[in-house]
Amino acid sequence: MRFSSRLIPQTSEGRRQLAVAGVLLAFAFVVMVVTSIVLTAIGEVARHANILDDGRSRETTNGALKTFRFQLKATLTDYAAWDDATRYVYAADGAEWIVSNFGDMTFDSDLFDTAMIIDSERNVHMAYHDGKPMQVSIGDYFGPAIWTLFDEARKPDTGRDPDATGFIRTQDGIAAVGISLIRKKSGEILVKEEDYRYLVFARHLNNKVAQLSRVYVIDGLHLAPPEAESVFSVPIVDPDGQTLAKMLWTSRGPGDASFAQVRPMVLVAVGIVGCFFLALLLIGVVAMRRLKEDETRASQLALQDRLSGLLNRAGLYAGLEQLVEKARQDKSDVLLLYLDLDGFKEVNDAYGHGIGDQLIRGVAAGLKMLVPPGAMLARLGGDEFAVALVTRRIDRIADSLSQNILEFFSEPFVIGERVAIVGASIGASSSPMGLIASEEALRRADLAMYKAKESGRGRFVRYEPEMDVDREERNDMEVDLRRAIEMEALYVVYQPVIAAGGRRTIGVEALVRWDRPGHGPVSPDRFIPIAETTGLIDSLGLFVLRKACLEVLDWPGISIAVNISPGQFRNPAFTSNIQRVIQDSGIDPSRIVLEVTEGYFIQNPARARWTIAKLKQLGVKIALDDFGSGFSSVGYLRQFGFDRMKIDRSLVAALDESPTAGELLQATVSIARALGIPVTAEGIEKEEQAIALELCGCDELQGFYFGRPTSPEQILARLQNEGGKDDHTAAA
Ligand code: C2E
Ligand code: CA
Ligand code: CA
Repeated sequence: MRFSSRLIPQTSEGRRQLAVAGVLLAFAFVVMVVTSIVLTAIGEVARHANILDDGRSRETTNGALKTFRFQLKATLTDYAAWDDATRYVYAADGAEWIVSNFGDMTFDSDLFDTAMIIDSERNVHMAYHDGKPMQVSIGDYFGPAIWTLFDEARKPDTGRDPDATGFIRTQDGIAAVGISLIRKKSGEILVKEEDYRYLVFARHLNNKVAQLSRVYVIDGLHLAPPEAESVFSVPIVDPDGQTLAKMLWTSRGPGDASFAQVRPMVLVAVGIVGCFFLALLLIGVVAMRRLKEDETRASQLALQDRLSGLLNRAGLYAGLEQLVEKARQDKSDVLLLYLDLDGFKEVNDAYGHGIGDQLIRGVAAGLKMLVPPGAMLARLGGDEFAVALVTRRIDRIADSLSQNILEFFSEPFVIGERVAIVGASIGASSSPMGLIASEEALRRADLAMYKAKESGRGRFVRYEPEMDVDREERNDMEVDLRRAIEMEALYVVYQPVIAAGGRRTIGVEALVRWDRPGHGPVSPDRFIPIAETTGLIDSLGLFVLRKACLEVLDWPGISIAVNISPGQFRNPAFTSNIQRVIQDSGIDPSRIVLEVTEGYFIQNPARARWTIAKLKQLGVKIALDDFGSGFSSVGYLRQFGFDRMKIDRSLVAALDESPTAGELLQATVSIARALGIPVTAEGIEKEEQAIALELCGCDELQGFYFGRPTSPEQILARLQNEGGKDDHTAAA
């Protein structure tokens, strides 16, 4: 579990955060763009409003100036085209009238502040300003522009009034100035042209600007020098085309004002929309994180074995790869143990899957206690487990850990009221400095585990390169063996079984032989395990039984012992197959002894007992083979109803080494005999052994001393020979 969480690569979290940051950034960007578009649009509207307003201000200012001039012109026309004026101006005694009607009128008048009368020769006949006579000459006061106006006013009659107006800079400032011919209201003039008199009015703008600003509602209207730079201005140009001044106003910027007013609202609105989308985004992120977590949990579950809570095969693969990587970086080693339970299938068959599952859980719990912290523990299905860890003391750890595990399995498991005995075969491989890929390490550990199984189970075997060669050889051998069984190319030899006391041959044990083409004879110790693991044992076993039954027919009174593998026992069709062979051969079933080893009985006692009962119904006898090489105690013998017990040759050989072995052997045999079970001694190679075992109470003896396994012909010859001797003895 601790491990699987590390399986989620660190980078994916970083990538996810980066993605979220990216989305947030994009989101902020969009909000900014939208805000700026909206503000730009409103700004555009505001600018337009400003332009419209400024245009209005310009027109109004222009209009105000024009009106200012027109008012002067209207006044001038009133005063110049005036019958009384013609009378006095063109008369010699009109000076007093002129002063009181023109000059005095300049005082505090809104209509004009300067009045002059000039003749065609530009001579001034009267000049008043603000109600007082003026001291300056007309040219000095108005400058040359006045003459431009004068010329225009004097232009030949084209139907229009004989006058002209315009803005001129005077010594007092800028003024609207007009010149008009003094004439009757009807336009008639009584004098000659060279005597014409002209009326000049000026109305100064300077002190009227504030009034204009008020009347025309133009903010901040004022006069500025011509060089003043502002777009909010209108020039005042004199008749000579000279810019005299500028009328400047303050732009009210109504758009700006509106803009300033709506901007906070827009910002608030965009803010609200932004918040809404931000909330959506955050909800999305949270939902995404949840999904991610679910996914992580699911993928963790996918790497976990439901039953044991350990990693499963996929979990081991993924985790092992990381360990190998780590070892490569740390320059440390990966140790991999591959465990296969011995006898689990039997527990499952006998007690059911419920107990089997509990056993798996118990094994998982035990292994958890045994493995060092940080080690990876996995169940690879069925009854296979694996331990992987990184270490710098690989040999020490491998030894101690496997030793502890084997010790753990040496105790029976108690599940409720049941007791299950399972062992473990352990294969080990390593990936020094992570140089062996995880897949290869697994394959090697698996191979070593098979080797452990093959070489007797319940042990620990390290991978060695020769095992690969061996594996290949086994595969080749399997192919050849299969063919040999199909073609019945195997044959059977027989080892005599001797009756103690008389030392007569009373039986034979059938032992299969195989001369492998191109290789010569192969030991059954080598090919029988292959037959067992490949399922070939069923047909091989039946072949030997059939052959033995037929051949023993020629040897009257001789019993025939046939070896049966646990694998055959497990086959549900086993008893019926045996029955058919016996019936087909026509042999008396009571002559047949089936030799079985203890393994199957310990693992699957209920089923074993049932099978033995069925076999006994057929009339055959059952012997427990290789007694003393494994777990079984004498108690087993009775419990299962064995007809005979065969003492393993290792016990017989031990006789030479220690006197206690003899005592042990004696005790064992006497208990068996007390239970009414006869005992065969195997592997007798010397007369002394034969005597010792006879004395122990064994009633049958077997071994090279009495005869090696031989062909049926030699057995027949031996029997005939013994028969002859018997006859001879009898005759004697
Ligand atoms: P096993 O059942 O214990 O067979 C006896 C083995 O001990 C035979 O070896 C036999 O040749 C050998 N042997 C007999 N007397 C002596 C002796 O005095 N000294 C020594 N050192 N060995 C002796 P074999 O034929 O190589 O068979 C080995 C094993 O192969 C057998 O052990 C048996 O378990 C298995 N086997 C042989 N034939 C069959 C078969 O047809 N079916 C099955 N299932 N297993 C078989
Ligand atoms: Ca045997
Ligand atoms: Ca044996």
